[in-house]
Amino acid sequence: MGTSSRDRRIAEIMAKLIKLYKETPKHWEGGILGSMTTTPHPIAVYAYLLFIHTNYSDKIVFPTLKYFEEELISDLNKYYGGLTGLLTSGGTESNFLALLAGRKTARDRNNIVVAPDTAHVSIDKACDIMGCRVIRVETGNKPVDPGKLEEYIRRYKPFAVVITAGTTERGLVDPVKPVADIALDTNTYLHVDAAYGGLLIPHLYRNGYLEHDLKFYEGVSSISIDFHKNGMTPIPSSILLFSNKEYKRNVCYKVSYMLSGETCGLLGTRPGGALAATWAIWKYMGWEGFRELSLNMMKLAIYLYERLNKIKGIIAYKPILPIIPFTHVNISYEILLKELLKRKYYLYKSPSLKALRIVIMPHTRKKHLDEFLETLEEILEKSIEKK
Ligand code: PLP
Repeated sequence: MGTSSRDRRIAEIMAKLIKLYKETPKHWEGGILGSMTTTPHPIAVYAYLLFIHTNYSDKIVFPTLKYFEEELISDLNKYYGGLTGLLTSGGTESNFLALLAGRKTARDRNNIVVAPDTAHVSIDKACDIMGCRVIRVETGNKPVDPGKLEEYIRRYKPFAVVITAGTTERGLVDPVKPVADIALDTNTYLHVDAAYGGLLIPHLYRNGYLEHDLKFYEGVSSISIDFHKNGMTPIPSSILLFSNKEYKRNVCYKVSYMLSGETCGLLGTRPGGALAATWAIWKYMGWEGFRELSLNMMKLAIYLYERLNKIKGIIAYKPILPIIPFTHVNISYEILLKELLKRKYYLYKSPSLKALRIVIMPHTRKKHLDEFLETLEEILEKSIEKK
């Protein structure tokens, strides 16, 4: 292929990419209201692109990544109280690694994980791969009852317990401190999945919105916090913090052919750009920046909740975190979902509540919510006219 035909090929591919990009929904347009993803922040994108060539598994060739990791993890642990940690590709990998660390620590325990029925599906996925069994504790869509959880722990002697600080469908916060006490008492590995709520809960707790805080109380072994959710980093970036260096060693493997001699986590070659992006957003936002963001998001969630409940037939659930499930007394949520999709509104489902779910994310603005409410009212009026 000559230079001019190569140039032409590039121009054609770019034109096609731009066309496809234009057809792809963007968060800032306001229609993506159910996903826990957001527009990555420019400083995170900048850092990601600068370090896009780097492999996080190779901190000898790319020592800057060691610097990013050490500074970021130690900064976060000043607030959350852990000892060590690493960046992973997402909440799923973090949950998987937490269970792996727990499994290797408690060889004498049963090959069982105990988790409330509200825990994320990635726990089942991890156990499917690791060959363990998940025993679910019924919650009736409430934060788990520590007494009931303790009964299960004593009966099944699991190698790990997982609770959630910010459940996917409702934003419930399981009581971390009481469960940590039980974990300590029964010598059980406790993982707190804070993939969604990790950056919000400490601030919402301190401002009176929540009953329970999130941190490494004695008895907590690991906490996962996704930055590609409320942290505004490009996908894939989640942080997994451990209370103990041995737990981290349990998720690292020797790799003799590499200069670093080891890789940690499920992936081999890992995105160094995601680590740079997470470091950069943390430097930019810091604890104070995330405090402000969390409070603003919660205010918007309450605004939406109040507006939704003023619409005839709509029942909205009071937000615990900035997640608002809602339903209609006569119209099924599946039908409502389809009608909204036709109008380019992308909501998710809370099947356990038979409801739709809106998640206020860092990009969400009041104007997006007002436009959405107008569309919802139009749909409801039309369906009433049909009847
Ligand atoms: N844990 C919780 C509580 C979640 O809400 C999610 C995703 O929404 C996950 C884990 C999985 O995270 P990821 O999709 O980044 O793997």
